[in-house]
Amino acid sequence: MSALSRRSLLRAGAVGATAAVTGSLIEAAPALAARADIGVSVFAFPLGAVTLLPGPFSANAGRIQSYLSFIDADRLLHTFRLNVGLSSSAAACGGWESPTTELRGHSMGHVLSGLAQAYASTGTAAFKTKGDYLVAQLAICQGRAATAGYNTGYLSAYPESFIDRVEARQSVWAPYYTLHKIMAGLLDMHLLAGNAQALTVLTAMAGWVKFRNDRLTQTQRQNMLDTEFGGMNEVLTNLYQLTGNAAHLTTAQYFDHAEIFDPLANNTDALNNYHANTQIPKAVGAIREYHATGTTRYRDIARNFWDIVVGHHIYANGGNSNGEYFHAPDRIASELSDTTTESCNTYNMLKLSRQLFFTDPTRAAYMEFYEKALYNHLLGAQDPNSSHGFHSYYTPLRSGGIKTYSNDYNNFTCCHGTGMETHTKLNDSIYFYGTDTLYVNLFAASQLNWADKSVTVRQDTTFPETSSSRLTITGTATFTMRVRVPSWASGATIRVNNVAQSGVVPGSYAAINRTWANGDVVDISLPMALTRESTPDSASTQAVKYGPILLAGAYGTNNLSGLPTLNPATLQATSTPLQFTGTASTGQVTLLPFYKMHGQRYSVYWNIAASLPPLVAHYQFNETSGTTVSDASGNGKTATVTSPASWVAGRSGNAINLSGSSQYVTLPSGILSGAGACSVAVWVRLDTVANWARLFDFGSGTTANMFFVPRSGSNTARFAITSSGAGGEQRIDAPALTAGAWIHVAVTIGANTGILYLNGAEAARNTAMTLTPGSLGATNQNWVGRSQYSGDPYLDGAVDSLRLYSRVLTAAEVSNLFSTGQ
Ligand SMILES: [Zn+2]
Repeated sequence: MSALSRRSLLRAGAVGATAAVTGSLIEAAPALAARADIGVSVFAFPLGAVTLLPGPFSANAGRIQSYLSFIDADRLLHTFRLNVGLSSSAAACGGWESPTTELRGHSMGHVLSGLAQAYASTGTAAFKTKGDYLVAQLAICQGRAATAGYNTGYLSAYPESFIDRVEARQSVWAPYYTLHKIMAGLLDMHLLAGNAQALTVLTAMAGWVKFRNDRLTQTQRQNMLDTEFGGMNEVLTNLYQLTGNAAHLTTAQYFDHAEIFDPLANNTDALNNYHANTQIPKAVGAIREYHATGTTRYRDIARNFWDIVVGHHIYANGGNSNGEYFHAPDRIASELSDTTTESCNTYNMLKLSRQLFFTDPTRAAYMEFYEKALYNHLLGAQDPNSSHGFHSYYTPLRSGGIKTYSNDYNNFTCCHGTGMETHTKLNDSIYFYGTDTLYVNLFAASQLNWADKSVTVRQDTTFPETSSSRLTITGTATFTMRVRVPSWASGATIRVNNVAQSGVVPGSYAAINRTWANGDVVDISLPMALTRESTPDSASTQAVKYGPILLAGAYGTNNLSGLPTLNPATLQATSTPLQFTGTASTGQVTLLPFYKMHGQRYSVYWNIAASLPPLVAHYQFNETSGTTVSDASGNGKTATVTSPASWVAGRSGNAINLSGSSQYVTLPSGILSGAGACSVAVWVRLDTVANWARLFDFGSGTTANMFFVPRSGSNTARFAITSSGAGGEQRIDAPALTAGAWIHVAVTIGANTGILYLNGAEAARNTAMTLTPGSLGATNQNWVGRSQYSGDPYLDGAVDSLRLYSRVLTAAEVSNLFSTGQ
């Protein structure tokens, strides 16, 4: 979307423009901070502690470093100088930095952040030298504010009258958005490059922001926040944490946008028709305000926002937004276009994800999403054929779409700017640390120098082209290494000096507590498999993935007019890693990893007909011994019991009798995968009723699952389904079950409705149940009697006649199953 059409949107009364916040984080230099973060138990390493080794990350970093070396500081300063009456003979920049564009000056902030991060990561003095020059020149411009007729501290490439306009609710693009970029860039130059003058300039800007907003009423300020303002609350909170000056927190909180925060505090998805990247930085600011104040409402706003966006607004590449806007929840297949998934949005979602992980490191889903969006969106948003790392704005997801890129001086979009930041900090989330704990989050060739422990950890891998990684320790130290075991890595193993480790559970972090010795080697194996991700609004619209890596069909110059139909049974690996071939309605097609798809049209989504039989499986539990449960449907979906089971007289024939301690039944992987509708019917006779014990729980971990509990912590029977953890559950609650008698339980899901039947009669329904088994992706933990959550009790009782369908049973069919005892 062009700047012009953005402005016409504004005139039409729509919300915002473009966006992104920069990478200013006190975490980068905690020793400088006056105030410690509250509610944080995990921390990032300084950028300089993690060196990228050759691989896709370092290749992207090298290209953007080359651009930052190339870009002319005086051309960037041109409009800043003119704005305060200084002469400038430099050539004006074009695109969004042209002297007549209302967003001019925003790239200055991105360049400052990029230079600071590049310097901190590599130690190359030239990055700091250029950044120092920019800061010094900006200080001169700021010092001329009064001469130019502006208030003290004002620093911008456009006149202060733009702020008058935003306060008066007159048409103007996004002045505070631009100022936020500059402020964040200055903070980065101070924290990451040790530039003292940057803090002086920033502090004066912050004083000016307070001056402008102190004068307004609360109502005036809130009305002003309808115009995109980036992460003003974030950078001012970071400045408060750095300096301890409470005035900066007051100013930060002037930017708490009630219209957005209030529904989020209630965990309500009210995002439909809001400009997406205008909102994401507000949530990043909210989590920082929690870290600064301890006020849990801020934490809940940020967490709920993440749950809502990741649970209901994310495409297969990890991006969000169509035409820059959020739409109704779970609208994916119906929102495919050339303007999907703006890069800045994902840049900001990654910032939010890591801040939330610092707050709750038990939730591996934050870093699982990080991996998904980093590899499938941002890694491939930079053009590898550009030595300057030109960057995509949108990543089109309609079939026939093609990525387009920025250029040196005539683009300067928001995404060109956040691209400079993303690719100068690809080393910032591979490892984190806590008290005597090392978190290994991402699999990327790199070396960590952990100064506090006097050890280095070298990670050798060609992931994702290979599905393994090796960590080698140099030095001696005692700490727990927590390695992320992705939920897609069924069968993952971790070996320390060739000794297999226990507790390697997909969807969690495996903990290895050890006194590490020089030369210790950790081998991580992460088996990848072909899986498909259905869209919530169309079960037959699916993306193909190999492990975490999104694959896309390579279509050259073929501008497709609709979704090709793909026969998934024809997919075959080639000798090239991550490259497959298959048969589609368009003919033979090659599938490439989407992050490597450049210079040609492609299809990310396919039409893939669901192929499950109507009755998927039927477990009669009529066995008398052993650990095998046969499938009476004829589909061969044999199940297994974990330990020798006991079999008792059931409602019909025998039943399996689960003991309540570590005994459960495992159904085959993917038992209902891809189903856009389903029914589960089963008999149970409980011996004891324990809160959260699962009658069944099908999924891949605590992120994606569907389960039924006879009694929840709210004293209800509950069916729930989620693709985004507990916070994203869609539920049906009914009176809790009791012990001692056979009870027939049936759940049907389809057409946005879930119905729970007890003893053949409807007990409750949810008419907003948009998730289906097809929303859960690959499932490898499909259990009877066991929960995805390791802390929950096992089921204590007898289970009989479990039936799984890929369609919705009618009320009459459920009633008949109950009345005939089947
Ligand atoms: Zn952008």
